[in-house]
Amino acid sequence: MIQKASTHVNQNEPLLFERSSAGKNGYQLPPLDVPAVDPEQVLGAANLRDSIEDLPEVSEVEAIRHFTRLSTWNYAIDLGLYPLGSCTMKYNPRVNERVAGIDGLAWAHPYQPEALAQGGMRVMAALEDALTEITGMDAVTLQPAAGAHGELTGILLVRALLESRGNPRKRILVPDSAHGTNPATAAMAGYTVQDIKSDNRGMVDLETLESLVTDEVAALMITNPNTLGVFESNIIRIAEILHAKGTMLYMDGANMNALVGIARPGDFGVDVMHLNLHKTFSTPHGGGGPGSGPVAVKKHLEPFLPVPRLRREADTLAWNYDLPSSIGKVRAFYGNFGVLVRALAYILAHGGDGLPNATGDAVLNANYIRKRLEPYFELPHKEPTMHEVVFSDERQAKLGVRTGDLAKRLIDYGFHPYTVSFPMIVHGALMIEPTETESKLELDLFIDAMISIAAEAESDPQLVRTAPHNTRIGRVDEVLAARKPVLRWQRK
Ligand SMILES: *Cc1c(COP(=O)(O)O)cnc(C)c1O
Repeated sequence: MIQKASTHVNQNEPLLFERSSAGKNGYQLPPLDVPAVDPEQVLGAANLRDSIEDLPEVSEVEAIRHFTRLSTWNYAIDLGLYPLGSCTMKYNPRVNERVAGIDGLAWAHPYQPEALAQGGMRVMAALEDALTEITGMDAVTLQPAAGAHGELTGILLVRALLESRGNPRKRILVPDSAHGTNPATAAMAGYTVQDIKSDNRGMVDLETLESLVTDEVAALMITNPNTLGVFESNIIRIAEILHAKGTMLYMDGANMNALVGIARPGDFGVDVMHLNLHKTFSTPHGGGGPGSGPVAVKKHLEPFLPVPRLRREADTLAWNYDLPSSIGKVRAFYGNFGVLVRALAYILAHGGDGLPNATGDAVLNANYIRKRLEPYFELPHKEPTMHEVVFSDERQAKLGVRTGDLAKRLIDYGFHPYTVSFPMIVHGALMIEPTETESKLELDLFIDAMISIAAEAESDPQLVRTAPHNTRIGRVDEVLAARKPVLRWQRK
């Protein structure tokens, strides 16, 4: 790890522990105005500690500066383009935050009586309706807390349906281009995972699929457009092959940013799918904050959806727990409500004509990047690009520069890296997804940086191999960090 003088206006920042000096603090308590109690008597001696070793002691201004300085080290979507492929890191309009902050929504309590929670329930009903229409499916649950959680919920629904027909079956098919959460989900739901190789266009090979689908196969989990950013143009035929054997078609909807308002999975044979509200529907994400992974199903899977379900009566809404076939709850209460509010605000602000516009712009932006970067980087799959484009480092690798090096050099140019080395079927992948929220100006800055780095890889490969150079911390030893992580501060 190379520590050096910062070239930035703000200062390098030590750990809070290193700032600490005994006795400093950042608060004052008012004089006690209630009778003092003996903590030992109230809490019990076993629950008391005399001191907490190594808790940092700093003043208020030190604490504030520490965290404010650290925050300026962060790259964020409010700062610039975030071209991570498969992540749909779009800008999150402030109006969403405004709406989620409305008192009655922000302070709603999940134990509030139904009669006093009708507004919140109407938000959820309206979102269910909007997502049902966008996906072309028949019913939606808003409970799952993220995409992977939605996948697990969806596959448990498949298992429940097949079980009710007498046999849950044994295997789930997953294309080799899939996100890692797909095979993980299948395994967690008790299925064995069978890989399907992609053909040379990066799509599911129909002959292979036909030979693998038997009455032991519960489902195929497919991402469409897939992680190469390519639309599976045989999707209707794929659905037919599966359905002929009673096998379900699961769609990973993380890439819905390429379809919203244009094509509906329910219309091309999908039985069950999840959405990532924190990707497609503009909830802030990254850093492990709350997400939401609603699951949309066709009629035959609806009886198995998690409880409670919203029941619409004349002009009131009620929670219905009386659903004997339900797989049960998958999350406390009703889902990550604040995320649901943001997604509905986003959908309503765009409206029925704005959503397909956004989708069109997302596809246009990805194709603009593809066109301008094609002369400089290898494009392994020539199929039309949807909302993201995947290059490989084949040309630069001959000069000893790999996708990870190019990505690190991008940091020097002030951009967050693209997705490195995924999907795994592309050796040395550079996966780029701009989203619709980027202007041509911002895209051009990014593209110019990439072209400049491609030139550097030729003229000075060592410069790229050792990047980043303009950051506070230079190239770290990632292998050592993974093998021997230091997760605790150690007193020097
Ligand atoms: C992001 C993503 C997931 C997982 O979603 P999380 O919300 O991160 O759990 C699954 N599949 C694909 C294709 C994704 O891009």
